[in-house]
Amino acid sequence: MNTKFILDESRIPRQWYNIIPDMPGPLFPVINPQTLKPVTPEDMGVIFPRALIEQEMSTERWIDIPDEVREIYKLWRPSPLFRARRLEQALQTPAKIYYKYEGVSPAGSHKPNTAIPQAYYNKQAGIRRLATETGAGQWGSSLALACSMFGLECTIYMVKVSCTQKPYRKSMMQLWGGTVIPSPSEFTNAGRSILAHDPDNLGSLGIAISEAVEDAATHEDTNYALGSVLNHVCMHQTVIGLEAKEQMALAGDYPDVVIACCGGGSNFAGLSFPFIADRANGKKVRCLAVEPSSCPTLTKGVYAFDYGDTAKLAPITMMYTLGHDFMPPGIHAGGLRYHGDSALISQLYHAGEIEAKSYRQNACFEGALLFARSEGIVPAPESSHAVRAAIDEAMLAKEEGKERTILFGLSGHGQLDMGAYDAYLAGGLEDFEYPEEKIREALQRLPKIQL
Ligand SMILES: *Cc1c(COP(=O)(O)O)cnc(C)c1O
Repeated sequence: MNTKFILDESRIPRQWYNIIPDMPGPLFPVINPQTLKPVTPEDMGVIFPRALIEQEMSTERWIDIPDEVREIYKLWRPSPLFRARRLEQALQTPAKIYYKYEGVSPAGSHKPNTAIPQAYYNKQAGIRRLATETGAGQWGSSLALACSMFGLECTIYMVKVSCTQKPYRKSMMQLWGGTVIPSPSEFTNAGRSILAHDPDNLGSLGIAISEAVEDAATHEDTNYALGSVLNHVCMHQTVIGLEAKEQMALAGDYPDVVIACCGGGSNFAGLSFPFIADRANGKKVRCLAVEPSSCPTLTKGVYAFDYGDTAKLAPITMMYTLGHDFMPPGIHAGGLRYHGDSALISQLYHAGEIEAKSYRQNACFEGALLFARSEGIVPAPESSHAVRAAIDEAMLAKEEGKERTILFGLSGHGQLDMGAYDAYLAGGLEDFEYPEEKIREALQRLPKIQL
């Protein structure tokens, strides 16, 4: 009876799966926020290399993974698939629970799966430096790692309040050679104009995006990199699901339901898209995206065109959104606080191809604690959303007295999030009510797009 299902390095996927040709209908155009016309490859060329722009719009189902990228993937891929036997026992459930663990990467999450190819394609294009933003620091540390491997400089605009709240993620970025700039900063027009009005501004992800994009757009040798949401980012993450399918086959099983937490959506996309592709061959797998009830993009948002960032510099896309200036409450799952969702995931949800569910943070930490006490691994606060949903699926199977095979994504470990666990253990966290009023307000400021 195996607990771990391990693939040899030779089984690291040779191609990423691009879901675009298998989508239920054509994609909506992406809109330039300045002209309100569809973006052109030339618009995107100011901040992205051509290879990634091509991937963003490609209708090829399979895209080759460069050998240089596969070589670096070998440092932690294939990642392990576990059968959660001890959690099953603790729950006394007839369900079988599997989880795919991405916490084995050097940065401790799935994000290096896309940081590595993004750094690679920029290096190929002759770029010298990448600029990006980070909130809690998971993306910034992943990109700093990737840049160090390809000899690129990395400038990370880190939300100022997070710099003091999450000092160890800042240390990781610096250890891998990244330059961390607390945002808002004096280095960009976007930062300076905010500081002029409000010298003590603590920053936000929207402001940091504006600074990083401006930095990239105003320097010839510098490009921008984004850690989630975009089509090519979702595609790079499909190594997770492609491996998981092989590992489930090793285990002699196939999931009835695939579960992952959903911030911008790349982690959920990475695990679920290769399973969604199986439906063409008659498989009946459900896919469930899990989000915080304080930032309930899919479950309470609207499907509409909206800006990708607060400052309205990022492209406008058709997506489930809570409004680009919606500020979610400060929950501990920092990676799940984006106001919108990937266009691909939004379209799949709108078409009824995937399901979504939201949870409050205490319920998630409760699940994470049971998981840590049975399986050992301490889940990242983001991943705890998937843990909770998997536990509930297993308990439902028990109530119904049915067998059920559950696969969930454990997107990262929580060893740099002990502050959050401390707060939970010290007597619970604040559970925020569904911020209906704030969402309704923010939704009044959606852009009006005429196609
Ligand atoms: C960033 C992050 C997420 C959210 O990722 P998306 O791909 O944007 O949905 C989930 N889990 C962990 C551990 C993360 O670091």
